[in-house]
Amino acid sequence: VTSMDEHVPHVPVLIVGGGPVGLALAIELGWRGVPCLLLEQSDGRITYPTAESINTRTMEHLRRWGLAARLRAEGFPPDYPRVVRFVTRVVGYELARFERPSNREQPWHVRHLSPEGQLWCPKFWFDPLLRERAAAFPTTRIRLGWRLERFQQTAEGVVAEAVEVATGRRETIRAAYLVGCDGGSSTVRRALGIALCGRFAEGYNLGVYFRAPTLLATTPLGPASQYFVVNRDCRAIVAAVDGRERWRLTLRVAPEEVERIDVRQALRLAIGADLPVEILDVRPWAGHAVVAEHYRVGRVFLAGDAAHLNWPSGGFGMNTGVGDGVDLGWKLAAVYQGWGGAYLLDSYELERRPIAVRNVEEASRNKATDLALPIPPELEEASAAGERARRALGALIEQVRRREWHTLGLQLGYRYDPSPLCLPDGTPPPPDDPGEYVPTARPGSRAPHAWLPDGRSTLDLFGRGFTLLRLRARDVDTRPLEAAARAVGLPLTVVDLDEPAIAALYERRLVLVRPDGHVAWRADAPPADAAALIDRVRGATGAIAG
Ligand SMILES: Cc1cc2nc3c(=O)[nH]c(=O)nc-3n(C[C@H](O)[C@H](O)[C@H](O)COP(=O)(O)OP(=O)(O)OC[C@H]3O[C@@H](n4cnc5c(N)ncnc54)[C@H](O)[C@@H]3O)c2cc1C
Repeated sequence: VTSMDEHVPHVPVLIVGGGPVGLALAIELGWRGVPCLLLEQSDGRITYPTAESINTRTMEHLRRWGLAARLRAEGFPPDYPRVVRFVTRVVGYELARFERPSNREQPWHVRHLSPEGQLWCPKFWFDPLLRERAAAFPTTRIRLGWRLERFQQTAEGVVAEAVEVATGRRETIRAAYLVGCDGGSSTVRRALGIALCGRFAEGYNLGVYFRAPTLLATTPLGPASQYFVVNRDCRAIVAAVDGRERWRLTLRVAPEEVERIDVRQALRLAIGADLPVEILDVRPWAGHAVVAEHYRVGRVFLAGDAAHLNWPSGGFGMNTGVGDGVDLGWKLAAVYQGWGGAYLLDSYELERRPIAVRNVEEASRNKATDLALPIPPELEEASAAGERARRALGALIEQVRRREWHTLGLQLGYRYDPSPLCLPDGTPPPPDDPGEYVPTARPGSRAPHAWLPDGRSTLDLFGRGFTLLRLRARDVDTRPLEAAARAVGLPLTVVDLDEPAIAALYERRLVLVRPDGHVAWRADAPPADAAALIDRVRGATGAIAG
């Protein structure tokens, strides 16, 4: 690419890839009024389902974007149970189960910790809804059927060359920033020469997307979002795709088996009955545990699977990627709007990369624990010995496998600590336990949820710029802080909260919350140097290592 022609289209942000992460970034930018162009090489049709598990934090972002209620009510049947069953076969014995409420019931189970809650929502509904939302912003353009081929960057911007897949027509696009949300085999990452670090191909799998209209009526065990199949013939997961007749089988296989598996036989073994089955798609895939060495080179960034790949065990991949999009989104907006400091964009990698490492490792741990389950020979016998074996294995599963479905700590407890943008307040961090979420307003953490008297959540106060909470502190003079923000164009809203319970939860009288809902600073009194604080949280000062 050589042209820096003034006539070629110019956009502040060029997003490559219209999977969930590229779309989440496009929404975050659109929501903040930042123009962007998204290129997606496919025609946008979803042909293969993955990423059903939308976690609580992603749902909170979807709430801010105005999508959560719709997602909960539409799409996947809202009353279908999200229970996870460990079974000998889908039409066989149940060994253990992890109860989880349906999409409709879910919010009420965590309502003291979040206004939302997890959702089961296969890609067929999720991605089109994100795309519809992204396309609704007047500043967002989405081009389906366009592939990024190459790019080069200068100090002033990025010049990209894209091709229309159907016609071969080429176009040059100039952008201030480019974000590669182009998945695991990211063209952008390769062009930047960024390596993925970690463990490649920890195991092999065969994915089979299939229709089995009689499966739900045949199994004596009842519906489930996932059946984990444990027997001496196969190790597999059968996941609900539409809550009626469409399913995805994930079969663990040895590398040399991938090409010669008899798919129909594999389905019979996992289901445990010879039901009418239509195979819709078959995809072999390898599970990795890798994170990109860097998330940024100059004006080009990586997000989502382009930056990290993990086992699906726990449903962390897309959710971690959406978190990348949210973090990068407000920072690009701050720079576009002129109040972001010189170091702000560097903080993206510093904040998000450790979260990816944490989540990738947790996913591998879940996978390893699953495969380590011992399978006694009498497991499927209709005898007292068989019954005993099933009870013993069921008890073990309940003990060692619970962790994969109790991850509120992982979902909500991640924190940017240390971050150059968040000022430590000297308090010790709560343990980073994947299972247990401890609400805290300690700087770096997600500002905790509490219900407001008018029925909104504290989370509904955050998003548009920074929010300064005065908790039972109407008497505190925050005008110098407001003036310092105004002086550099940093959007700041002051909100008074007088509820004693919320003040106790936040622990300080003044709490400054970033546009992404994380706490940047808290104290009982205004800072001595308001300008220095504002400069710190907008990335204008502070040596950034890394
Ligand atoms: C079996 C399975 C189950 C999973 N379940 C979950 C789950 O429950 N929860 C969860 O969070 N995650 C889950 N994941 C992981 C999840 O699917 C991924 O993390 C997620 O899809 C990543 O989103 P992305 O947008 O980064 O990348 P992708 O979804 O891979 O999207 C990248 C997009 O970029 C486009 N693209 C690539 N190159 C170019 C180019 N040069 N020009 C233009 N466009 C380009 C591609 O066509 C594609 O649409 C699962 C994965 C698997 C395999």
